[in-house]
Amino acid sequence: MLLIKKASVLNNYLEEEVKKGKTTGFVPTMGALHEGHLALIKTSKSENDICICSIFVNPTQFNDPADFKKYPVTIEQDIKMLEEAGCDLFFLPQVSEIYPAGTDFSRHYELGYLETILEGKYRPGHFQGVCMVVHRLLDIVAPQQLYLGQKDYQQCMVIEKLITLIHQAEKIKINICPTLREPDGLAMSSRNRRLNEAQREKAPAIFQALQQIKNKVGSKPPEVLKEEAVTELIHKGFSVDYIEIADASTLSPVSEWQTNQQLVLLAAAFLDDIRLIDNITTGS
Ligand code: AMP
Repeated sequence: MLLIKKASVLNNYLEEEVKKGKTTGFVPTMGALHEGHLALIKTSKSENDICICSIFVNPTQFNDPADFKKYPVTIEQDIKMLEEAGCDLFFLPQVSEIYPAGTDFSRHYELGYLETILEGKYRPGHFQGVCMVVHRLLDIVAPQQLYLGQKDYQQCMVIEKLITLIHQAEKIKINICPTLREPDGLAMSSRNRRLNEAQREKAPAIFQALQQIKNKVGSKPPEVLKEEAVTELIHKGFSVDYIEIADASTLSPVSEWQTNQQLVLLAAAFLDDIRLIDNITTGS
């Protein structure tokens, strides 16, 4: 596996490889890798000649500076895992490589409705930061295929919108890969490393609450199911940002059941200062 830290070096290298006819698949991450990340790497590797993974803890997407400071960093272990998963190219830039002109960008990405709900509502500025970093990474890597996790459902929709806004939708194919879970259902996440034993025991309750809603779709009004789930999570010690039942393709909240509507059930909740998110679709 080749380790590259400079944006220009990576860009030139990949340009040459693509000229030779090589195909490229890209997995952007913030590190502290787990099996969920590795599943994206393996899929990218199996579908492209060159699999590129980046690790960059992007300061501009953290609306809470304390969360940024506490974000887990495990580079040595990450490198081993990437090598084992068959990653070809590992991009590990400094902040100055990604933001040579600083982080105070004037560009605003017009995300519209998507930015006003759920993660957009509870983490103001988060998706602008996500767009900033993904735009820059896509300029550097220029991949043919991009691999994202369904774990970050709304982020996938934001990035789909981004590539349209930056006129890359024809050039980059987005692949959304299923959420990998621990045996007890907890969605794998870098933030899970921060959970202590007692918190780790409670954490699967988020997935269970979503499963409960899924099992009861149509049996009671959506509002009631959401309220029941919130009450249950609060009872178990969570502080809940949201439980939402939404249309899977638009993320519009559902206020009454419609037949054959694909739904996504989403949750964000804190265990003390650790914020966890999860979602499931009614088709899965
Ligand atoms: P992150 O390092 O958290 O920014 O995530 C990097 C990529 O991995 C994103 O596309 C995430 O959606 C994806 N990802 C994170 N957790 C999981 C998971 N449990 N299963 C599948 N993909 C995931």
